[in-house]
Amino acid sequence: MLKILFLSILSIQLSFQSDASDLSQDYLQGTFKDEPLRKAEDWTFSSMMVMNGDQTSKYKSYSSNWIDEPARFLPKYAKEQPRKIISEFYPTNQSARWPDNLVPYQISPELMNNAFINMSIHNAIEHWQRLTCIKFEEYQPSKHSRTHEAVVEFVKTNMGCYSEIGYPNFFMRIPNFLVKRRIFLEQNCLRGQIIHEIGHTIGFFHEHSRNDRDNYVDIKWENIAFPFFNRLNFEKAGEALEKDYLNVPYDLGSVMHYPANAFSMSFLKTIEPKDKNLEFLLGNREGLSFYDAKMANLAYKCSNKCKNQLNNCQNDGYIGPDCKCVCPEGLTGETCEILISKNEKSVPLSHLNLTCDFTEGLCSWSQEKFRDQIDFILNRGRSFAAEYLNSVGILDDHTFNQSGYLYVDTYFVKYRFESAELKSPLVKVKSKTNFCISFWYHMFGNDLVLPGELSVYLHQPFFSQNLTKIWSRAGRQDQNQSDWLYAQLDLEVMSEFRIVFKAQRFSGFLGDIGLDDIQFDEGFCSEPDTAPTEWTPWYILSGCFLECGTEYYERQRYCQIGIGEKSCNGPETDFQLCPNPECQNLTDFNSTENFTISFFQEPTLNLSIDIKNPLPNVEPVELNSALKTVRQCGQTVYLEVNETIQLASPGYPQEYPLETECSYLIRTENGSKIHLSFEYINIESTAINTCPDSVEIRYYALGQPGLRLCGNYSKNRSKKILEFTSENNEALVIFRSDWIKSANGFLLKILSQN
Ligand SMILES: [Zn+2]
Repeated sequence: MLKILFLSILSIQLSFQSDASDLSQDYLQGTFKDEPLRKAEDWTFSSMMVMNGDQTSKYKSYSSNWIDEPARFLPKYAKEQPRKIISEFYPTNQSARWPDNLVPYQISPELMNNAFINMSIHNAIEHWQRLTCIKFEEYQPSKHSRTHEAVVEFVKTNMGCYSEIGYPNFFMRIPNFLVKRRIFLEQNCLRGQIIHEIGHTIGFFHEHSRNDRDNYVDIKWENIAFPFFNRLNFEKAGEALEKDYLNVPYDLGSVMHYPANAFSMSFLKTIEPKDKNLEFLLGNREGLSFYDAKMANLAYKCSNKCKNQLNNCQNDGYIGPDCKCVCPEGLTGETCEILISKNEKSVPLSHLNLTCDFTEGLCSWSQEKFRDQIDFILNRGRSFAAEYLNSVGILDDHTFNQSGYLYVDTYFVKYRFESAELKSPLVKVKSKTNFCISFWYHMFGNDLVLPGELSVYLHQPFFSQNLTKIWSRAGRQDQNQSDWLYAQLDLEVMSEFRIVFKAQRFSGFLGDIGLDDIQFDEGFCSEPDTAPTEWTPWYILSGCFLECGTEYYERQRYCQIGIGEKSCNGPETDFQLCPNPECQNLTDFNSTENFTISFFQEPTLNLSIDIKNPLPNVEPVELNSALKTVRQCGQTVYLEVNETIQLASPGYPQEYPLETECSYLIRTENGSKIHLSFEYINIESTAINTCPDSVEIRYYALGQPGLRLCGNYSKNRSKKILEFTSENNEALVIFRSDWIKSANGFLLKILSQN
């Protein structure tokens, strides 16, 4: 053992020297600006300190939370591997992928005993398994020792999250010795960071290390914090190691890409995308991007096990773990050949199945796509929290027989106050009808902090565009973890209506919001559900984020509603002015042209965040009668070179239809680009800077999200020009509207350029 350790230190020493000579070349070319090159011995010394476990003293100087650098800890391995993802073979003809697409793993007792990190590891593993054909199994010598000479080990460290890369090659393996590929995690490593580290283990290197990265990002070397070797994390792979990226484009939204302030000196940016409109993609730690999942499935040859091995997915789609094409958003069909064109019509009740025990899916219910941020999870047995934390979460469905239920997980929070909505279709009834809706819910959590809220809404578009809240509960409701609680509501409806369940989580709490066994019957409910009828105290839904200027926060309260009507007077939602000082320097643009991207880096850009006038009456720009006009949803439009067309939202300049999803694929000749410029936008937006309706332009690659635009814009009235140029010869326009509030829509001018 001692000999092995000695050898590995020696090899690190050698490779650090070679790193240092690479660096000196860069230095001579002027890449580094403010720091003399250190001698190779210094580097080796610090790396040995690290290997000996003396980490805290060396790492105090990090000012960023993103500590993750296989290049420094294992420079030899890193140098041997192509970037982004390992190729199928090492030069020695040894496969570098995990054999049989199977990754055996162990979790050290220290991590296993930490409920939060243990839960996060399992959740991250589940995420990889769901989106790729790579399987993870707890290591069993009897099962895995014949096929695997290495195992992934999750081990605890005092600071940072980092890992080793890929399956060990021939020279790293030792006969009759199980090689450990370690993922080092401190106790604060989050689920998304663990997904990133698992990415390294299966073979991904950092996205921003790709050799073509200079086309897409600028590295701000002068803003990288000391010590000097932090810069290694921003080095490119180098020409000699340029490898095939399997035709997958550079992806700013990759889970393997650093955020804008990684290793930053006092929060200055260290990475800046060339295209500022795509900055919101940086630092994704929610999960695999479309292209991450595509790359992993291609590299692990997931389609090989499929009967139909013909990879005929079009429009950037790929064969997923279930042998079907996975398509970019806005596209569908067996081979991603169909552009989505949806416009919901109301459905007679007899065609629907609204009574549902969630054993075989969602029945006639569906997950809301535009108005919320997350989805309900369809689950059997214990929820993630119940599995890994003590005495919180849901143990089983309401009948305790392992049939399904829905829940919103409350630990893996992406944005504060995010919500999930479950909606019925728009139901058609012939005349005034009474219904009884009943359901079971579960809200048990840590009572030190206020848990989230579950509410039921009724929408009757004939009477109002707005939703009526007909029931809600906030905070801990259950006395015991095993309790499910019963609720029933009487409804009186006419013509068309829709029911919506909404679960909203608040920040920093533990406990799930569960929903099960919805029963929907004509007639009155059998016995009344009594409840107090006072308002709860106001609770704050959004914060104040600007340093100066006018800004509002949203607050809510709810009425403890009994049967029938609401019995509290006054509003449930309210906007209050934030106590911000006035700004010293006025911005160039008036408030309807505020281009600030929202605080949470949501993928939305509200062009008008003025609460007092959410949809000011900006005159729609008239259609140009000299140009060809495209309106029909779901079209592929082919442009001749130098041809100009206009694309208008459905019905423009009249109001667009509600509940619409509508894509247009624009193509031109190979080698030409598509130039898209907005003439006019008037699309529903909210005061808290979100976009319930939106138009999105995917101009970089079909699978990479673009900003979702809403609010008001007019080319005639704005000093700014809102325009985009495609990376290749195609672009995808996706228009989405929810089922509340319409507006004029958008007008887009599109030109094919050489
Ligand atoms: Zn990393």
